[in-house]
Amino acid sequence: MNHVSKEEITDIVNGLNTTGRQWHYHLMTPTCRFNDTDQFALFVEDVENDKAYVLLSERAQMKISKVFAKLLHGKDVVENTLSNSATELTRQEKNIIEQIDELTSLGMHWHHHVFFPHCIFSNHKDNFELVLENPSNQSTIISVSRYEPKQVLRYIEKAFYSQKSVK
Ligand SMILES: [Zn+2]
Ligand SMILES: [Zn+2]
Repeated sequence: MNHVSKEEITDIVNGLNTTGRQWHYHLMTPTCRFNDTDQFALFVEDVENDKAYVLLSERAQMKISKVFAKLLHGKDVVENTLSNSATELTRQEKNIIEQIDELTSLGMHWHHHVFFPHCIFSNHKDNFELVLENPSNQSTIISVSRYEPKQVLRYIEKAFYSQKSVK
């Protein structure tokens, strides 16, 4: 794992993205179960080269994270331009949305992960894993799918970036 600056991590992601390489990122909070530091970590994986880069910070890098999310999932997903986004969700995806709504109504901050294929944290390396961590009881809800779960992400990304802070 390589520690990098804001500028470096942005350059790395732009490089990977424009050359069409497999990459993804994670925004980890200090209490995130995948984070072994006590800071916020913006974690980028270069899948083909089996490399990871991390930007540590005292506050969540929400702005950079949102830029990365648009590159990774598509601008339309992050900005939720579809009105009928609640259609065609699996039971588990609905469970994730319900939990997010509940946390939000309690005024609790939360975060999630999208484990792309070959993610070093994934237990299903050939598939996508969507993981919601519940900070109130340290539980997780995991949804595994063959395809990038764009439908449910339309809901999740919008809700995630509506938060003032994340936990
Ligand atoms: Zn986490
Ligand atoms: Zn990963």
